[in-house]
Amino acid sequence: MERKQILATTSLLVLFVLSLTNCKTKSDNDEETLLLLAAASLRTCANSAFTGTTVVNSTATLDTNTDCITGMTSSMSSDLPAWIRNNFKCSVGSVSGSNYVFRAQNIPNNKSYYFGSSSPMYESLAAGQKSAGNNQIQSQCLVYTIPSSPAAKSGTKVGTQSGYVSVGITVNGLAIFNNAAAAPDTLAAEQQTFDKYNGHPQSSGVYHHHARPLNVDASNASALLGMLIDGFAVYGSDCKDASNNTTTPTIANGDLDANHGHTTTTQHFATLTYHYHYSQDPTATIPTLIGSFFHGTPGTVSN
Ligand SMILES: [Zn+2]
Ligand SMILES: [Zn+2]
Repeated sequence: MERKQILATTSLLVLFVLSLTNCKTKSDNDEETLLLLAAASLRTCANSAFTGTTVVNSTATLDTNTDCITGMTSSMSSDLPAWIRNNFKCSVGSVSGSNYVFRAQNIPNNKSYYFGSSSPMYESLAAGQKSAGNNQIQSQCLVYTIPSSPAAKSGTKVGTQSGYVSVGITVNGLAIFNNAAAAPDTLAAEQQTFDKYNGHPQSSGVYHHHARPLNVDASNASALLGMLIDGFAVYGSDCKDASNNTTTPTIANGDLDANHGHTTTTQHFATLTYHYHYSQDPTATIPTLIGSFFHGTPGTVSN
């Protein structure tokens, strides 16, 4: 190779590394960990039982029967409780011992700028929003193992800030991310890169929500949004109890603990049950799905 070529190649490599670093400064704390995990596991799923096909953005279409992207696996086993069986889709849910297991390709069933302009699922960003670098949605092999009998963790709570591939799964099979962005970025700034459904992908293509998933709760603020990996449900900004009384609990009013949760009945739980709410977050300074700590003991997520 000629010296000029070597220099050109080297500069390209340097540019590539620089651009990755630039993307990372725009990412979340979790996303740095995600980058490493994804690099190690992109070729094969961590769990050999994962049977989902890889969704290709350029041919991605919505299957109107399942309301999931065509080719995505979507099934909930009959031994799951009704609140999961009747509400979760676009992933494969099952029971394994004392855990729920979800396997998810993590492709949104809504249009997004981040499918790329050649995809049938592409749509432009809303006015005033800006692109999250070159990040695009990519098919994942996420496997969640979540305790099926969640309990409050006594003593020091476990933080949501780092070391997780995802901190929860939405009812439409998508990753939930925490209430922080990597310094010097703030989540309030990162919000400017959300698509029209409040999601965006990080650098290895994991599409995720920090805030309300607008494809789920746009017309129903008390909708069940998903489950955090400690096994507790997360709802929209409104709380509808088992008697159909609706309130809008907030952390500021002391209705919710610092982790966005409280213990009441809900539409899905007739007995007093801890659950989270989408609520204003003092760390993020915008409303988020989760605070800085889990109420219970988190399960595991691999990719
Ligand atoms: Zn993010
Ligand atoms: Zn509630």
